[in-house]
Amino acid sequence: MEGLMQDYELSLQHVLWRVERLHQKKEVVTKQEQGVHRMTNAEMVPRINRLAGALKRLGIKPGDRVATLAYNNHRHLELYYAVPCMGAVLHTLNLRLFPQHLEFIVNDAEDKVLFVDQPLIPLLKPLLGKIPSVQQIVLMTDTPAASHSENGFSDMLDYESLLAAESESYPWPKLSERMAAAMCYTSGTTGNPKGVVYSHRSQYLHTMGVLQADSLGITEKDTVLPIVPMFHANSWGLPYACGMAGSKVLLPDRFMGDAKSIVELAEQEEATILAGVPTIWINTVAYLNQTGKRLPKVHTVICGGSAIPRSLMESMDALGLRMLHAWGMTETSPLGSVARPRAATKPEDELRARLTQGAVSAGVEIRISDPATGEELPWDGVAFGEIQVRGPWIARGYHNGYDPGKLTEDGWFRTGDVAKITPEGYVEIVDRTKDVIKSGGEWISSVELENAIMSHPKIMEAAVIGLAHAKWDERPIAYAVPKPEFKGKVTQEEVIDFLKDKVAKWWLPDEVRFIDEVPKTSVGKFDKKVLRASAVPIDQTIKQESKS
Ligand code: ADP
Repeated sequence: MEGLMQDYELSLQHVLWRVERLHQKKEVVTKQEQGVHRMTNAEMVPRINRLAGALKRLGIKPGDRVATLAYNNHRHLELYYAVPCMGAVLHTLNLRLFPQHLEFIVNDAEDKVLFVDQPLIPLLKPLLGKIPSVQQIVLMTDTPAASHSENGFSDMLDYESLLAAESESYPWPKLSERMAAAMCYTSGTTGNPKGVVYSHRSQYLHTMGVLQADSLGITEKDTVLPIVPMFHANSWGLPYACGMAGSKVLLPDRFMGDAKSIVELAEQEEATILAGVPTIWINTVAYLNQTGKRLPKVHTVICGGSAIPRSLMESMDALGLRMLHAWGMTETSPLGSVARPRAATKPEDELRARLTQGAVSAGVEIRISDPATGEELPWDGVAFGEIQVRGPWIARGYHNGYDPGKLTEDGWFRTGDVAKITPEGYVEIVDRTKDVIKSGGEWISSVELENAIMSHPKIMEAAVIGLAHAKWDERPIAYAVPKPEFKGKVTQEEVIDFLKDKVAKWWLPDEVRFIDEVPKTSVGKFDKKVLRASAVPIDQTIKQESKS
């Protein structure tokens, strides 16, 4: 017997419909050099319609890729709606990639039109003549009179003029939920970037998942400031979640990395939810402590992308900023799990629960698998193996068929993250498969060591990598950045002593090397690839002595 419910296509057009019909008065506020750009949804929707008209006039057809090289701002948000809702595919380019990666990505996706924020034009210059699929470049600026030709792009179109020439209404086509809506490339920390292709259905279901109370729990009453680039995993799905819920949206434009601008925007516009990777909050804590400012309206700080060091969560808690830890990756749209302490959690265990990667999102299934045998491991909080997931917003492959081995034979996605799962269902990431340190046949978690080092009162940041060792295969080496006031005033011995009651003896790093800054990836995570590439080998004469 068949169900008798409607075959309603799940598409981003529904999110746009809500933005237009239900949330007209809600604002989209973008930070600018002086003040802000403010627009209501009622003002934005006709612009989205005009933009779709302009794309059609430029020859964009369903399935065509439209690239953006842009900050988090109102025009980027307009593209987020117009491109997928007209049946085309929004391809957000990571503006912190090297030119050769950008070139690879644009060519791999075969982008037809490319929208660029004016300050980012220099990034396009090295690509001139190397991206043949791109037929038009559209410049996004408030001052359309600016000279376009000086950068070698003489025939660039102007965003605002294109919109001005179109009608305020657009006949949105009927879409199938299986159609591609957006593309995002993995940041390439391991090899060439690979294209993840989201469908309307996956985006719709992911949005519903994000909104659940036990997930990110965003509501109509919220004002959300995503400090997650819109080119990175769809800004964690927050733009569509805000559209669906009807939250006010704050966009930091190019001031994303500036704690002062972020705090001012949050303060002035009364943000209730902030979202970003741990490095953003490390800077924010320092700024708030320096200035004595506070953000009392903020009830949740969503944090993911890498593990939250305990010391960071404690400092944020002390400032009244409650962190909500989430885990995910580009291939999981990205939300995979969220750490909300469960009902049975005793108050003394709350912090520990919040520091895990949390429980898997409703809609996603998770398992951990033994890397050697492939067998599923128990949820006992002890056994650890690779996280594998499946669900309607998990990738089943990459664009152009790259890396088919990421899917298991029975159709689960191999995440490359190593974790244990407690009997209550909390996922605890131990490391990434490529970062665990293999010493004497056992695994050392680089993440746990980093967190332990970062809880040292004189240390601001720490990254740990495994370096080759004749006897032990690999040994951990820590790279630590002292807090500014302790620069030159903290020693290796002090750090190692501090770790002695926190980790097993054989986990103690062979060396602590002090540096000024931990290199970061394009999305602000510690870039251990760079550390590894430039690392001086272990001085094994010292090592032998400490190990024996
Ligand atoms: P890339 O793989 O290029 O770094 P992603 O942004 O997709 O790009 O990164 C996803 C990875 O980030 C995950 O596989 C995981 O290793 C790490 N990650 C994300 N969130 C967390 C978290 N809360 N705790 C620990 N690691 C995390």
